[in-house]
Amino acid sequence: MKHPLIGISTNLRPPEGTEKLQHSLPAAYVHSIQAAHGLPLLLPVDIDLITLRGLFDHIDGLLLTGGADLNPQTYQQDSHPAVMAALHAQDRSELALARWALDEHKPLLCICRGQQVLNVALGGNLIQHIPEMIENALKHTGAPGTYDESFHDVQIDPESQLARILKQTQFQVNSTHHQSVDTPGAGLRISARSADGVVEGIEYPDHPHAIAVQWHPERMLQQSNMLALFEGLVNACQ
Ligand code: MN
Repeated sequence: MKHPLIGISTNLRPPEGTEKLQHSLPAAYVHSIQAAHGLPLLLPVDIDLITLRGLFDHIDGLLLTGGADLNPQTYQQDSHPAVMAALHAQDRSELALARWALDEHKPLLCICRGQQVLNVALGGNLIQHIPEMIENALKHTGAPGTYDESFHDVQIDPESQLARILKQTQFQVNSTHHQSVDTPGAGLRISARSADGVVEGIEYPDHPHAIAVQWHPERMLQQSNMLALFEGLVNACQ
């Protein structure tokens, strides 16, 4: 059996204290795709769209990963002071990848920022800063060094594809985000929420496999059945 080639979006930013751009990606994403028997291929985002499209044509599935905030201009809003926007090239490239995968029914899994990219790609918008915009919000950002810890509950819609993949509807997750889906984009369905109402999962039913979560399953492979999310992506490509 041929192993599917999974394109993984990478971050674009200079390391702290320098100006030279670097492509970077937490290794856990690569290890998760490998554990699910996919072939990981890192996708740079600061390339022209024709080159990016050339890479997209080679991959069987797409993993959109965590990273900085989308520039609120991508959903026609002014920026809240707490926004730490990604560089334009990253927004542009990841939105293009998401739209191509949606249009052409290529399987995709979107994590954290990836979920926000999926939502904006379909015309949705984001809550720009949860602590100020959601009353009685839970803590969604752990202290530095505790990023692997699970500390808030999520409730999964039992009718969702996400529930079918994970085979459970309530569990604890890690959380490293200050933004979340506000209005869902056209055709998206909310598949998971935390107790404060924050959207923790979305999916696009009119597609073979377009699944998104706000937490970080790649950092939970030891704790639960989160490998199923990556296996679900790889298997959908076969
Ligand atoms: Mn959260």
